[in-house]
Amino acid sequence: MTGLPDQLRRPVRGMRDWMPQQLYALRRMEEVLSSVAEQYGYRRVETPVVEHFEVLAKKAGQEVINEIYYFRDKAGRELGLRFDMTVPIARVLSYNLDLPRPVRWYYFSKVFRYDEPQHGRYREFFQFGVELIGSASPRADAEVIQLLAASLEAAGASKYVIRINDRRAVDKLLESLGALSHRDAVYRALDKKLKLPREEVIGIMTSGGVSRDAAEKIYDTASEMSLDEAVEVLRRLDGRLGEAYAKFVKYLEAAVPMERFKFDMSIVRGLDYYTGVVFEAFVGDYWLAVGGGGRYDDLLELYSGVKIPALGFAIGVERLMEAVGLQSVEKPLDYYIYIFDDDAYKHAVALANRLRKQGHSVVVELGEKNLKDVFEYVLKIGTRYLVLIGRKELEKGVVKIRDLQKREEVEVPLSALLS
Ligand code: AMP
Repeated sequence: MTGLPDQLRRPVRGMRDWMPQQLYALRRMEEVLSSVAEQYGYRRVETPVVEHFEVLAKKAGQEVINEIYYFRDKAGRELGLRFDMTVPIARVLSYNLDLPRPVRWYYFSKVFRYDEPQHGRYREFFQFGVELIGSASPRADAEVIQLLAASLEAAGASKYVIRINDRRAVDKLLESLGALSHRDAVYRALDKKLKLPREEVIGIMTSGGVSRDAAEKIYDTASEMSLDEAVEVLRRLDGRLGEAYAKFVKYLEAAVPMERFKFDMSIVRGLDYYTGVVFEAFVGDYWLAVGGGGRYDDLLELYSGVKIPALGFAIGVERLMEAVGLQSVEKPLDYYIYIFDDDAYKHAVALANRLRKQGHSVVVELGEKNLKDVFEYVLKIGTRYLVLIGRKELEKGVVKIRDLQKREEVEVPLSALLS
């Protein structure tokens, strides 16, 4: 057999095709998540997948810049595919500064990253997320995290935890230890804390210039604790930060059960644009990282020249679908109409159109299959009713309807179906 070689039959590396059942599962997830965002008063936005490379690169950090799909168009413009929705939305805000703030937006969109593909890691994937733009209030932090928890629950995640940190707390800690100038190394090390043994994490810090003593202190302070315990730690680090944090915890407590949350200084998150609270959600028996977000009070100024505080989160949709076991949704055909005789075609079409008007999905046989093949075919594609229109039946003015689930057959007057 000739045709394309196998590797060209498959999608481009890191990308995937969505067969109907999978696509219906994706759409169901889209409906569920969108309706949660809508209930919280968020409205949906979309932007082009292609952005000016400069816009994408502005606040991405080198690691993310390396992952940008970059190209020049025929006019020589330097362009790239969006790697998240936060940056495009920041750009949209920059020329819509008269929008009444706070702005509450959500998205369910494709993003692209030239990542190393592996299980749960694609180069083209969907993100669902929200942005709350124009508020510095700790209530805004609590609202967005509440919305993240509500999204996970609506998606069917019964087991999840949201780990919360505040980059300012980490910075205060570093300041108190005289290690602020080694912030990058510390962030890199903390980011690995859940995956690597203690010595290796400390090693990343010391080889980045942090003293052994400070690295150990940082490691030990960055252990998991309750949000209430964190308030005390933050108070000791910085009075004002501690007070703001206490308020945030109070607001969050009012909205969501506290056992869903942990304070964890090792949650620093990769993207360079975070400035305050950061958080990450883990779901299921394997604690799959399905999403995260945080406050990015400086990002909008980079694009608009105006300081506008904001925060948001993004959920990796494919990951969440995997975590909650939503992989495919069957959508059987309602009616398949088979005619034994070409003369009956007009009756078949009239009946099909009638049923379609009532909202049913209907297929009329194309005349290439015998009855045995049709039976096999309708079962394979998933069908509820097979309608048989034969000459004898037509003379009697009836059709046969076979319920393929119940395996029953009834005769129904055609006039009753058409009226
Ligand atoms: P981030 O924008 O990096 O914070 O990512 C938010 C979420 O998107 C992550 O928690 C993942 O669930 C998902 N995600 C990130 N990168 C990928 C990828 N390459 N493939 C699939 N999902 C991803």
